[in-house]
Amino acid sequence: MSGTVYLVGAGPGAADLLTLRAARLLGEAGIVLHDALVPAEILALAPGAEKVPVGKRSGRHSTVQRFINKRLADAAREHAVVVRLKGGDPMLFGRAQEEIRYLVSRGIRVEVVPGVTAALAAAAQAGVSLTERGVARSVAFVTPRVGEGAAPSSWLDAARAADTVAIYMGAGDAPAIARALIGAGRSPSLPVVLVENASQAGSRTIAGTLAELPALAAQLNGGAATILLGEVFSAAVVAKRQPRRRPQAR
Ligand code: SAH
Repeated sequence: MSGTVYLVGAGPGAADLLTLRAARLLGEAGIVLHDALVPAEILALAPGAEKVPVGKRSGRHSTVQRFINKRLADAAREHAVVVRLKGGDPMLFGRAQEEIRYLVSRGIRVEVVPGVTAALAAAAQAGVSLTERGVARSVAFVTPRVGEGAAPSSWLDAARAADTVAIYMGAGDAPAIARALIGAGRSPSLPVVLVENASQAGSRTIAGTLAELPALAAQLNGGAATILLGEVFSAAVVAKRQPRRRPQAR
């Protein structure tokens, strides 16, 4: 038997942000290999499937990618429908290419089902469009995180050039990120919004400036967080500040 491996986007956490296709495939799956952060409510959509957590949670026990690749190939020998469930969209910062390459090289069919990526869930949560006529015409999805032994990242070039920047896996390195961006010429007063656990209960939005980024990141509760930067967020920053403003003397 050679089943199909579906790389399925689980979205940012809310089960009702899954695509209908993702929900259908979960229902049909014989096995689901999932990231650590995929909520139980989503896994519950695969009642007939064996569930195997293979997540890489930063700073915690991690299953090596090689092992995941092999598990997927083995699963395709036993099940017609294998779901590899990944947070957000599989094609952004999800190591999908390594899995696709490995499986295709072994003659295993692979299909990808998109999901709502963190940056877009964060924009929705903040209520701010990543593009805006006359303000922002380009968006960069970047991560400063590089894997062990990987080539240095050019994230900074992209983050310098784009009008709006979404930084993945960056909240833990906020001081270095702020320093690098300001050093690369981005204004210390550039508006910044951090969105933690977008789409989930307990989501938080914190706004300020690039210079304040380290202090803003220190307010996070340890959930998954995306850093958004750009002039499009200026109103969001002003709104966040309002409650703290002292009454004006007349
Ligand atoms: N493939 C995923 C990204 C995986 S990298 C996607 O498309 O979204 C993991 C990073 O995604 C986290 O470090 C964080 O920056 C971001 N992230 C994931 N879920 C998030 C959420 N619910 N809210 C905010 N950021 C999130």
